[in-house]
Amino acid sequence: MIPSALEHVREIARHSDRIAVFLDYDGTLTPTVSHPENAFLSDSMRQALRELAARAPVAILSGRDLDDVRRRVDLESIIYAGSHGFDIAGPCGLRRQVATDFLSNLDTAEKELRELLGGIPGAQLERKHFSIAAHYRNVQESDVATVKRAVSEVAARHRELRMIDGKKVYELLPDIEWNKGKAALWLLETLGLARETVRPVYIGDDSTDEDAFRALEQCGIGILVGEQSQSTAALYSLKDPAEVERFLRALAARPL
Ligand SMILES: [Mg+2]
Repeated sequence: MIPSALEHVREIARHSDRIAVFLDYDGTLTPTVSHPENAFLSDSMRQALRELAARAPVAILSGRDLDDVRRRVDLESIIYAGSHGFDIAGPCGLRRQVATDFLSNLDTAEKELRELLGGIPGAQLERKHFSIAAHYRNVQESDVATVKRAVSEVAARHRELRMIDGKKVYELLPDIEWNKGKAALWLLETLGLARETVRPVYIGDDSTDEDAFRALEQCGIGILVGEQSQSTAALYSLKDPAEVERFLRALAARPL
């Protein structure tokens, strides 16, 4: 068991004149819901993020499409990375799109997958800018294997794409060495924060967040949200988004 971040706020923010805070969205800032379109940010969480962003750089890295996550959070003072970090935008014209030369491959794979999933009740195909997500949350148990097979089949046909496993979703992404961890490191470098005195704190609940926990292991701190059912590279934990909010408020309130 890893200790609660709420009991170690001072340690986490200590020995550094600044922190930079990276957050996942679903399951981290909002409770997990059966229909992802209903995962709305609460006003109090938005307020907590706003207060923290006034004191430290804050970035949200999500599997969602960039515009989707930006619309849901609706704060201009923070940085957003959509499509698992492939599509980055922030204040002062900050912009990076990592895999634009994969767009036509993604278009083709999307068409193929749409055809294969067409007959499966409840299967939901979502095209994001830099990925294709096949959601099976509302698919009958007996059809889940068929969804997986369809995505695997398209992945096998497109060696330039790779398949990842999310929460009730299989997803195809450009097969390049890029993930939330690389995106977080790129942001630290680009924002001039990649120095010893800035400590990145990364909070997330997904397997894709483990990439970031590992990438920041040397220089920062990973905080896992939710049940600790598998091994993690995070150092601390928070139970749920309510605890995340308390932690963010504690970070924003810490003395300078
Ligand atoms: Mg999540």
